Amino acid sequence: MNMKSYRQLLFLILLLTGTAFLSCGNSKNRLQEPTTGVEEKVKVEVPTFNADSAYAYIERQVAFGPRVPNSRAHCDCGDYLAAQLKRFGAEVYSQTAELTAYDGTLLHARNLIGVYRPEATKRILLCSHWDSRPYADQDKEQHRHTAIDGANDGASGVGVLLEIARQLQRQSATLGIDLVFFDAEDYGAPDFFDGLHRAEYWCLGSQYWGRIPHTANYKARFGILLDMVGGKNATFFYEGYSSRTAGKAMKKIWKAAERLGYSRYFIAQEGGEVTDDHVFVNRFRQIPCVDIIDYDPHSDTGFNPTWHTLDDNMEHIDKATLQAVGQTLLEVIYNEQ
Ligand SMILES: [Zn+2]
Repeated sequence: MNMKSYRQLLFLILLLTGTAFLSCGNSKNRLQEPTTGVEEKVKVEVPTFNADSAYAYIERQVAFGPRVPNSRAHCDCGDYLAAQLKRFGAEVYSQTAELTAYDGTLLHARNLIGVYRPEATKRILLCSHWDSRPYADQDKEQHRHTAIDGANDGASGVGVLLEIARQLQRQSATLGIDLVFFDAEDYGAPDFFDGLHRAEYWCLGSQYWGRIPHTANYKARFGILLDMVGGKNATFFYEGYSSRTAGKAMKKIWKAAERLGYSRYFIAQEGGEVTDDHVFVNRFRQIPCVDIIDYDPHSDTGFNPTWHTLDDNMEHIDKATLQAVGQTLLEVIYNEQ
């Protein structure tokens, strides 16, 4: 995601502060609602998310080294992710593409897609980026050209989704579920780059998939994007673009989190706005897509202090955050009819 657009939106956020407190409304548990007449709701067993598994999948990705496109680690981790999806019973698509980066570098990119219940016409898209940033451009001068581990920025979202894949194999959801791991999200122009900074330099994998999805005319009821969902004391605010284009799905997610007791992570207030994969999912496929992204209203960048630094490593991954995000996602997708 792009820090520049964050800075541009800082005063917008300040302007919005006065209207920032939005109510979460009723916190009735849908499973306990009295059922009457034909509108009776189906009682759904929602599986229990295992944060230890998600953590292990993050650790495994990070162990390959930084997953920067065109590197050995990237290639090996891509193979690992495809194999994991297959092992968890998904129909797997490996979509390769040659994508041009901001500086003209040709990236050998690969989006990975795991499909559950391909025959279902009603579908939900869950996505995250799996590449890691080639530059620690928010770190001290001497580290700015070093690639990062991306334990949080990249691996955390994928780790949560792999655990969801494992759960989907054990117990199918009513709707078809598609897990998409986008490549080349974080190859945007670094701070030290003198040329033009464009939003389109980011999210190259999702832009490609948005134009050429893994199946023709791909549609989903809504999408959920996970980005930086493993940090300690993470806070997920209503992200601006999601608010405007996927407000209904967004409120549904935050309400599910509230029912589960995770309101300290999912803050029902407007936060900043970011350039992230959800923008292109919506722009090219017209799928409302919600970005669940760690947002810090007290920091200059809007992100947590490890963002795009060498500190984005396993030391700063917290299982409690993974649990909150993973369980909320399961609650949402299994209750969808
Ligand atoms: Zn990033």
